[in-house]
Amino acid sequence: MNRDQMIEELSKIVGKENVLFSETDLLLYGYDASLFKAKPDCIVLPNSTEEVSQIVKFAHREKIPIVARGSGTNLSGGTIPARGGIVIHFSRMNRVLEIDIKNQRAVVEPGVFTLTLKNQLARYGYVYQPDPASERVSTFGGNFGENSGGPHCLKYGVTTNHVLGAEIVLPDGEIIWVGGKALDHPGYDLTGLLVGSEGTLGIATKLVLRIVPKPEAVKTMLAIYNSLEDAGRTVSAIIAEGIVPATLEMLDRLTIKAVEESIHAGFPLDAEAVLLIEIDGLKDGMERLAERIIEICKENRAREVKAARTEEERAQLWAGRKGAFGAVARLRPNYLVCDGTVPRTKLPEVLTRVMEVGKKYNLPIANVFHAGDGNLHPLILFDERNEEELKKVHLAGSEILKICAEAGGTISGEHGIGTEKKKEMFFVFTPKDISAMRKVKRAFDPEDLFNPGKVLPEVQT
Ligand SMILES: Cc1cc2nc3c(=O)[nH]c(=O)nc-3n(C[C@H](O)[C@H](O)[C@H](O)COP(=O)(O)OP(=O)(O)OC[C@H]3O[C@@H](n4cnc5c(N)ncnc54)[C@H](O)[C@@H]3O)c2cc1C
Repeated sequence: MNRDQMIEELSKIVGKENVLFSETDLLLYGYDASLFKAKPDCIVLPNSTEEVSQIVKFAHREKIPIVARGSGTNLSGGTIPARGGIVIHFSRMNRVLEIDIKNQRAVVEPGVFTLTLKNQLARYGYVYQPDPASERVSTFGGNFGENSGGPHCLKYGVTTNHVLGAEIVLPDGEIIWVGGKALDHPGYDLTGLLVGSEGTLGIATKLVLRIVPKPEAVKTMLAIYNSLEDAGRTVSAIIAEGIVPATLEMLDRLTIKAVEESIHAGFPLDAEAVLLIEIDGLKDGMERLAERIIEICKENRAREVKAARTEEERAQLWAGRKGAFGAVARLRPNYLVCDGTVPRTKLPEVLTRVMEVGKKYNLPIANVFHAGDGNLHPLILFDERNEEELKKVHLAGSEILKICAEAGGTISGEHGIGTEKKKEMFFVFTPKDISAMRKVKRAFDPEDLFNPGKVLPEVQT
């Protein structure tokens, strides 16, 4: 089928104004927050599950690939239309359908921004806990696709722990429900399988989420260090004591510099690292817990630990953390965000090795990450116009993931595999493991039409 016919058929489903195909549109939907690019044939903006189902049935009949897209902020090439085809963008399916405080559930469409729901819940004193730093624009469909994390996921768990069910359009266009509002569901845990499947198995058109009351009290501290390793050691010392803070985030010297130049969060420019530590829960006992954390920081050679005294001071510290990726973007034209996870006890050693990789390739590396989860985000700075640097950055990124895998960790904490890390899957999986995953993909999508070319590397048999 040629493109004009495709556009005509899709226009019948969603209306002419909701099918985009100008050169500018194709360019805009051809990239995401990764380093990859490719062009779709067209973009459709459905308004209901029924429309999504009809689009998918049409694509299935005509063997056209489909890529589901939220805001395109994923960092692994997950929304790159690698084989062209149709991009389904969920910007019109952006309704919060239900907030059920009594049962602590919310139901949303996939195009709702994470922060939009949080703002609505705040009125009731409730919260949806996972908080990707991109929450102003990250959508629930994208969070579902990537099993996204965030600073508060150390204590509360990542997306998969908060998505209880979903309405799903399968690759043949059929609509099913997995999970639901109840706490447990008999049969296979298809919700668990689909969360994090990067749009390769099914497309979520409604999501049932767990919401919880806001904690009674919160305390935010900033521990300042003259050494990255000491900050890393503090992280495992706090957890080893049996304390699980709500967040335990680390920023290194280069990130601090970038943040202070643009956001002025109050991080000291001469520090090698800072830890942003937040505890929450009941008021009773909170001061005692904070004192113990401060002691642990000092035992691990923190040179100072400051506590936010007002909500404004707390917001300022968080603005520094949440704006860190953007701030680092000012240092060089491009950066590659690596996303590897290591056992917390390995943080000091792995951070040293990461910085050695930067020296080896002569590329600056800034670190800002979910230290409590052992989830590293080395940002490798470069200029993509320099072909030599572009080659080196891919090699350096891959080497860092190898270091994580060798340290007993893995190649993604939250950003997914997408296009970027397919070959690195072999750092943690055998060809047999990958073949088992491919069987799952075939069971759902035998024609390989949903986000083809993502997640799974080819296995030589
Ligand atoms: C500055 C910055 C900070 C970030 N911080 C974090 C962080 O703290 N934690 C974190 O985990 N990530 C973070 N990310 C990565 C990214 O924001 C998250 O992965 C986010 O959840 C993606 O949401 P999105 O709407 O942009 O999804 P997209 O990028 O549009 O899509 C992501 C994946 O989900 C699939 N998908 C989209 N919609 C659906 C659907 N309806 N059904 C099924 N699959 C679907 C897509 O096909 C794709 O594979 C950050 C990114 C940036 C740029």
